[in-house]
Amino acid sequence: MPLFSCPTNSPKVNEITLTDPCFISDLHLNSEDAGEVAAFENFLCTFAKKRKELVILGDFFDYWVGDDALFTAQSILSPLVKFSQTHSIYFMHGNRDFMVSSDFAHATGATLLADPTVAHYQDLTLLLSHGDLWCTKDVEYQKLRRKVRSVWWQWLMLRFPLKKRLNIAHNARMKSKTKKNRKKAEEMDVDAQTVIEAAQNVSADMVIHGHTHRPGQVPLTASLSRYVLGDWRHEAPDHFCGSCLVFEQKTPVYLHF
Ligand code: MN
Repeated sequence: MPLFSCPTNSPKVNEITLTDPCFISDLHLNSEDAGEVAAFENFLCTFAKKRKELVILGDFFDYWVGDDALFTAQSILSPLVKFSQTHSIYFMHGNRDFMVSSDFAHATGATLLADPTVAHYQDLTLLLSHGDLWCTKDVEYQKLRRKVRSVWWQWLMLRFPLKKRLNIAHNARMKSKTKKNRKKAEEMDVDAQTVIEAAQNVSADMVIHGHTHRPGQVPLTASLSRYVLGDWRHEAPDHFCGSCLVFEQKTPVYLHF
């Protein structure tokens, strides 16, 4: 048992078995946006319900400042709790919600996943990740990533009053918005060689990740592809749409809604 429990050292699994999964990521849900919450609830009741497992690969929340903010997200947690009574939910950290911890898992019935995680599906081995870990060309980002995932940083951050943390998250989001525009598209994508090595280390047949917001199949080698999950976005102020990845037999299929 660590002296200080924080999101980084909260209990996680890094190997799971899936029977009929539905993968999503990058919803960037904001509990204050009723339209987004309704769209997610609708997705659970229609698309996800038909599957056995909901696998969230990061950036589910637009930001998460600590599990003591659970009460601010009740509108999102309630449908998850209901869903977990009949389905399994797996939750991996993204770069916006890496402060999700054990209290969230207990409250929703979700299992926290390490990044990366190996998933067994039929006779396939899938390597699952949010994806930011593999953006190794962005050296500055990787430095920041290591910092905010360190126990000392999280310990310090969780000492700040909740209101202060909500302010910090808001400001950081504004800053990253402008910075992202200045970075080259290449820096923002995963590094192919890094992904190939990670996949070969665990003899993966395919890779599934999010983060880059460039959905689709990208071949890595003759026999290995990565499947990028799509982000959810407002097509119109009252229309929040997204996609998920499921398997038909053993073939990955994107569903859009
Ligand atoms: Mn991300």
